[in-house]
Amino acid sequence: MAYDYDLFVIGAGSGGVRAARLAAQAGLKVACAEESKPGGTCVVRGCVPKKFFVFASEFGHAMEDAKGYGWEFGKAPTHNWNTLRDNVQNEVNRLSGIYSNILEKNGVDHIRSRAVLVDAHTIHIVDEDRQVTADKILVAVGGRPFIDEGIPGAEHGIVSDDAFLLPELPKKAVIAGGGYIALEFAFIMAGLGVDVTLVYRGEKVLRGWDEDLRNYVEGNFERAGITYVNNTVFTKIDKDESGTRVHLLNGDVIETDLVFWAIGRKPNTESLGVQRAGIDVDSQGAIVVDADSRTSQSNIFAVGDVTNRVNLTPVAIREAAAFVDTQFKDNPRQMDYHCIPKAVFAQPPVASVGATAEEARASGHKVDVYKADFRAMKNILADNPERVVMKLIVDQDTDKVLGCHMAGTEAGEVMQIAAIAVKAGLTKADWDATCALHPSVAEEFVTLASKVED
Ligand code: NDP
Repeated sequence: MAYDYDLFVIGAGSGGVRAARLAAQAGLKVACAEESKPGGTCVVRGCVPKKFFVFASEFGHAMEDAKGYGWEFGKAPTHNWNTLRDNVQNEVNRLSGIYSNILEKNGVDHIRSRAVLVDAHTIHIVDEDRQVTADKILVAVGGRPFIDEGIPGAEHGIVSDDAFLLPELPKKAVIAGGGYIALEFAFIMAGLGVDVTLVYRGEKVLRGWDEDLRNYVEGNFERAGITYVNNTVFTKIDKDESGTRVHLLNGDVIETDLVFWAIGRKPNTESLGVQRAGIDVDSQGAIVVDADSRTSQSNIFAVGDVTNRVNLTPVAIREAAAFVDTQFKDNPRQMDYHCIPKAVFAQPPVASVGATAEEARASGHKVDVYKADFRAMKNILADNPERVVMKLIVDQDTDKVLGCHMAGTEAGEVMQIAAIAVKAGLTKADWDATCALHPSVAEEFVTLASKVED
């Protein structure tokens, strides 16, 4: 049977655009449908605008630090939220335009509409009320933040999508969650002068991360001006002319201007027609795929956050490239999930690659833990107490570095390069044989001498 397209991609985010471009460049007839701005979560309402907000927030601290270096500021600096928000949106729109161009320049049929599955080979273009067919389909529709709908008044809270477009910055905000988004926005908002309260349901934020990194982030709350309330959750949000109040299970009631849900994201599979197309989803709504990103329907594939594997942009991009190579370029290969570096852009940030000491022990390794905890040179004249923590988790039998963890200035930048060595399976002796670059923060990773009890 002749289909309209060789490949139809639903979703023009990081994964979808990469797959569409590579497949079109390989000579296939490709369409890519997107209901929103091209670019997806990362470009439009995630990593990119968030990182600009982090930069904005950090300037405040940098100006404080600069005083120890002789800088004098005539009057107290102020921040204009509208300028930041609008400049960030302009850049988001520019980048989104680049994503459109990538599709169009490579001959992909860029369809500006929601698209849903009708059956295994048919797609309904909703806004144009027409149907098209495709031999293969790639679902790359991502995910979205959710709110706890069981809580009365939950709808009064915003999610991260809304945070980029606030008409004004609130004086007070209460944020729920203790993961990536909650922490990044708590520090962003506090740095911009918002009185932030972070409410986390567990004992300690960043569950699953290295213990020292978790302690480090919590240890910076007070200095950042973040009030931290743990072991509790929202029970009710009420809002009237006099204001908004968040009621907590521990009995506290917090008056606030803004309530922010940052309690996780869920795959965008609602009303997508997955059942009609014969695609299995799990209890979270994530599309179930095999190592080739193939769904339970053999001609339909899925990559990125909609599969809820490792929900990071570079992972979606690599899953997409492996899919195109395997299906269309006679180069079968699978995404390698081993040693994916990650960072939470708290202020200062934390970043990791490979195993924590607990994970390494749980998988049968006997480990040595090397650690440095110090004040970076830049903070000395600034009289800034902020510290750096660096750790290596080393296998006692093979001397291989199994995990690398860092908290402090530029942790994300350092971790990207450290990830090469951890992924390559280099030994602690290899790290030590590398000459230090002095004076730098990162040089501590090649001079780590002290083993610690972990
Ligand atoms: P996370 O999964 O990181 O964190 C969710 C947090 O909310 C956890 O602390 C969780 O607690 C808590 N939580 C979950 N359900 C509830 C509930 N019903 N009531 C109260 N608290 C709750 O999700 P995020 O939304 O922060 O981020 C989603 C994903 O997006 C991340 O996992 C990551 O993959 C990606 N991301 C990556 C970024 C980066 O690379 N820097 C930045 C932002 C997002 P508990 O720990 O107890 O489960």
